Amino acid sequence: MTEPTFPYLGRLAPSPTGYLHVGHARTFWTAAERARAAGGRLLLRSDDLDRARCRPEFVEAMQEDLRWVGIDWENGLISQLARVDRHRLALEQLHTAGLIFPCTRSRRDVQEAAGAPHETGGIEDEPIYPRAFRPAPDAPLPPLGRPVTVNWRFRVPDDEPMHFMDLAAGEQQAVAGRDFGDFLVWRKDDTPSYQLATTVDDAELGITEVVRGADLIRSTFRQLLLFRALGWQPPRYFHAPLMLDERGRRLAKRHDSLALRTLRARGESPASVRRLFTNG
Ligand code: GLU
Repeated sequence: MTEPTFPYLGRLAPSPTGYLHVGHARTFWTAAERARAAGGRLLLRSDDLDRARCRPEFVEAMQEDLRWVGIDWENGLISQLARVDRHRLALEQLHTAGLIFPCTRSRRDVQEAAGAPHETGGIEDEPIYPRAFRPAPDAPLPPLGRPVTVNWRFRVPDDEPMHFMDLAAGEQQAVAGRDFGDFLVWRKDDTPSYQLATTVDDAELGITEVVRGADLIRSTFRQLLLFRALGWQPPRYFHAPLMLDERGRRLAKRHDSLALRTLRARGESPASVRRLFTNG
């Protein structure tokens, strides 16, 4: 029997919190190349849930910079902020299933109880949430409220070994509750967490392959738990190695000299910038 083949649908998901640098562009270029090689399609999603840090001029700039470097996509721009109602429905589903709990502990409480942060390398690293802070599994859940005014966390299945095959980084393993703990799905300022929003959006847009930076490998385990809890099939994952600076640090928005805008203003051509992708 032949395997059914699904048309490839990928996405670029920049956060408009600053100007894209050559490291972002390399990952997005990889995403575009993989979509092209598969004869597939590519969407652009703006990860704009962080209202304090996202700015409209960065939304404009990221589209212009991506096009300049030679990356294209279909169907305009999908804003995560415009999809918050969909994220909320998923939150309600998790609440009905009793898979989340309200958390009134401060970041500091968690940090102190957990000791040094154990989770490393990811954009949403947090100390492992102490099991002692959880409500009992059979404790009745308060309503979510609208707006939501407390943090809600996903209760991870304690000690469950997890794995997935990453198309770039190979077999990945983690143990839920040990390598990462109960994580935020909704914040007390009534916004969805990155983990929940990206899971809902990847599922509902029908993304078949996620290409992104290797700093999100750990987050993938959290997202796989959400996919399962919500009854959805996860995409495949390709976590591209991060580009490092000359001191071996990963590129960050502080590397202004490597922003695509700066390179362009210095007279670099798109082709010369693309050559940096293979040399990094
Ligand atoms: N917006 C995230 C970032 O800029 C990427 C999220 C994702 O690809 O899942 O790092």
